[in-house]
Amino acid sequence: MAKAGGLGDVVGALPKYQNELGHFAKVVMPMYRTKFLYENEWELVHEGAQQMGNYHFNYAVIKEKTNKLGFDLYLVDINRLLDREKIYGYDDDTERFLAFEIAVCDWLSKWQHKPDVVHCHDYHTALIPFMLKYCYAFNHLADIPTVFTIHNAQYQGWIDWNDSYLLPPFDSWKWGLLDWIKNINPLACAVKCASKVTTVSHSYLAELRQAANGIENLMEYERGKSIGILNGIDADVWNPQKDNLIIKNYDDHLVKEGKKKNKKELCARFGLDIDKPLIVFIGRLVGEKAADILPDAIRNSIYHHHGGVNFLVLGSGDAVVENKLDELNHQLHGYVNTYIGYDESLSHLMYAGADFLLMPSRVEPCGLNQMYALRYGTVPIVRSTGGLKDTVKDFGDWQGYGIRFNHASVNDITYSVGRAIDLYNNKRNLYNWMCSYMMNIDHSWDASAGEYIRLYESL
Ligand code: ADP
Repeated sequence: MAKAGGLGDVVGALPKYQNELGHFAKVVMPMYRTKFLYENEWELVHEGAQQMGNYHFNYAVIKEKTNKLGFDLYLVDINRLLDREKIYGYDDDTERFLAFEIAVCDWLSKWQHKPDVVHCHDYHTALIPFMLKYCYAFNHLADIPTVFTIHNAQYQGWIDWNDSYLLPPFDSWKWGLLDWIKNINPLACAVKCASKVTTVSHSYLAELRQAANGIENLMEYERGKSIGILNGIDADVWNPQKDNLIIKNYDDHLVKEGKKKNKKELCARFGLDIDKPLIVFIGRLVGEKAADILPDAIRNSIYHHHGGVNFLVLGSGDAVVENKLDELNHQLHGYVNTYIGYDESLSHLMYAGADFLLMPSRVEPCGLNQMYALRYGTVPIVRSTGGLKDTVKDFGDWQGYGIRFNHASVNDITYSVGRAIDLYNNKRNLYNWMCSYMMNIDHSWDASAGEYIRLYESL
């Protein structure tokens, strides 16, 4: 329905797996103006009206008719606020997500049966645990346990106290729960108010106690109710044996031939050399992903390794990085190519056709790309951080199957690219063994979905 990164993948897959375990997980999200909206049929399930400060708004909740995603999907339509093409990045994001949160609480308060648990994701939904407990209008929902998952603690959704009138009337004795360093901080508020807090990997939870964009002390203080649960991947969608977005399907026995056909298509499309190792980067072009050093790291790697490697980048984000990549594309044509934008099907082809996937992230809460790479037999080259540390083992270690480095720096990346080239050119048997070994590592939601269920049951 809508995806900017890993959160979309998680919320699109986890409820399906939970339902398969015999539960009833329903998803409610804003009604963005996306292709999925127009290509599917919807029924109206609720209409309501609410107040946000002195702004009166009507909202509607619609439900996808056929359950095609494996769970009930509800969208909240708030005229002029939510139905836009982009998910976020507008000046009025505060109002947009506040209105969404108010509408969801209001709709929940009209349900005949209360939900057993409300599970919220990231700052856009982070005031819901507070609203359910301390906003007078939703008082009767105060005993519903809430779980809050942090996918990314960098984005906290700060709101100036001058705008606190936008919140529904609340118990003013509780203002301290909203506050963090003289601002309303939705993410911090959820960490304080939710019954349980989860992060998307164990290492990320530990890292947040050291650095969490200003809320590290709070993460330490709330240690007792926090746990890390590693994200899984949707093994039906990300399956090289059945994926119809790639040129040739393959399994672990046919990985060599299968990947070669996909690589051929990629190289033809992007003017690259099929005989050289192909390293790809897929992701948001932002500082967290170390995208700012990517152009220099690519240039340096190509010069340093005498042009013995090709790169392909798919991503969008920071305009400066986009321009630098475009420049690189022209300067080193035949060695590098880029696709600036978002393209789901190209990403599938890249996971299938590449030899290596580069993730030099400064911060990586879980990271799904490396898990898709493993599933498609593509060797991940990652910085040792967060979820990358939890899912990739260096090939220098016992039964290792990837390449790890310590610093998000041009030097570390160049060195690791050298190891990749050597592995590809001179240790082909090991490389081939790694490809089929990685494909059999189970990162599906089967295990993690059960962990969430146990967490809900504990509440
Ligand atoms: P994050 O959530 O921090 O962006 P993740 O690794 O958890 O990072 O998830 C990224 C997801 O977004 C993956 O499914 C990846 O394939 C996808 N993705 C990111 N950028 C693009 C893009 N430009 N085109 C297609 N898919 C993309």
